[in-house]
Amino acid sequence: MRPFDYTRATDPAGAVALMARPDAKYLAGGTNLVDLMKLGVETPGLLVDVTRLLPAGIEESAAGLRIGAGARNSDVAADPRVRERYPVLSRALLAGASGQLRNAATIGGNLLQRTRCRYFQDVTKPCNKREPGTGCPAVTGAHRDLAILGTSEHCVATHPSDLAVALAALDAQVHLHEAAPVPLTGLYALPGDTPQVETVLPPGALITAVSLPPLGFSSGYRKVRDRASYAFAVASIAAALDVVDGTVRDVRIAWGGVAPRPWRAYEAERVLRGGPATEAAFRAAADAELAAARPLPDNAFKVPLVRNLTAAALAELAGVDR
Ligand SMILES: Cc1cc2nc3c(=O)[nH]c(=O)nc-3n(C[C@H](O)[C@H](O)[C@H](O)COP(=O)(O)OP(=O)(O)OC[C@H]3O[C@@H](n4cnc5c(N)ncnc54)[C@H](O)[C@@H]3O)c2cc1C
Ligand code: SF4
Repeated sequence: MRPFDYTRATDPAGAVALMARPDAKYLAGGTNLVDLMKLGVETPGLLVDVTRLLPAGIEESAAGLRIGAGARNSDVAADPRVRERYPVLSRALLAGASGQLRNAATIGGNLLQRTRCRYFQDVTKPCNKREPGTGCPAVTGAHRDLAILGTSEHCVATHPSDLAVALAALDAQVHLHEAAPVPLTGLYALPGDTPQVETVLPPGALITAVSLPPLGFSSGYRKVRDRASYAFAVASIAAALDVVDGTVRDVRIAWGGVAPRPWRAYEAERVLRGGPATEAAFRAAADAELAAARPLPDNAFKVPLVRNLTAAALAELAGVDR
């Protein structure tokens, strides 16, 4: 047990000021941070509890929906406005963790949870993300669950959040205390040769809310996992599709479980827009995006898996018989 200090900040400015201490970390629901402290992966000297100061409500306006960073995952998933207008978001949240965890987990904390790569979580093993320069045993070791897109020789970890995949498809913005908002699709850094740098956020940045523009067409979330619940994604898709007279007018696709960040499939979207809403077109679009995949021996199965998942999800949204 390592000793650490704990304090409850009373306002966002006070919380940010406390982060001037280099070993300070924000504490929200604690469902990821405290687990990592028990494993010795995270060793903060000061926990700054932000649960009581972050907005936890959901506001709707002509600009869309704004969700406080302190909102619990279960409350957001159950909100009637979310369920009706952004089913992709509700379903992504319900596909994550368990009921008890969703009751504790917050929107801000979910976005900044760390990878589930087993070497990252085991302090007896080398890991470039945890200890830069020590190597990446996953490349030659256990990588079945890890990434096929956006990787580098230094790290092949995936980002574990289901929420982030839905927000990537929804063109969400991440709002910070006294800093410009960041688009969700630009929040996460790819590993390159600095896998320890996971986001574009400056040290001490406090997420205060996420906002979603209006969507206006149907959306859904599908997740492939090794168990029916309580398991992270082997692969997942957040999709939204607008079809008029058999032609794709608009489409959004983001994949989870395949990259170090939620992977917005811009190339697949480009291929689909203005074309036929058929299963063959959905598969071809997935393949156009997957041309960039660099799978490892034990996760090459994710390429056909993501192709099939994409075809199934888009066919369902388009009402196409398979
Ligand atoms: C058994 C298990 C299964 C799980 N399965 C899934 C799953 O299938 N899908 C999924 O998506 N998730 C899953 N999770 C992860 C879970 O959803 C996250 O642990 C949770 O969402 C994190 O939120 P939190 O509020 O508890 O964050 P915390 O653990 O409190 O914090 C996480 C990180 O975010 C930082 N942080 C928190 N709030 C802010 C803020 N407002 N601004 C800046 N930084 C902040 C903290 O400093 C910390 O680094 C699972 C977790 C467990 C334990
Ligand atoms: S994949 Fe990334 S997190 Fe996993 S061992 Fe390699 S460097 Fe560490």
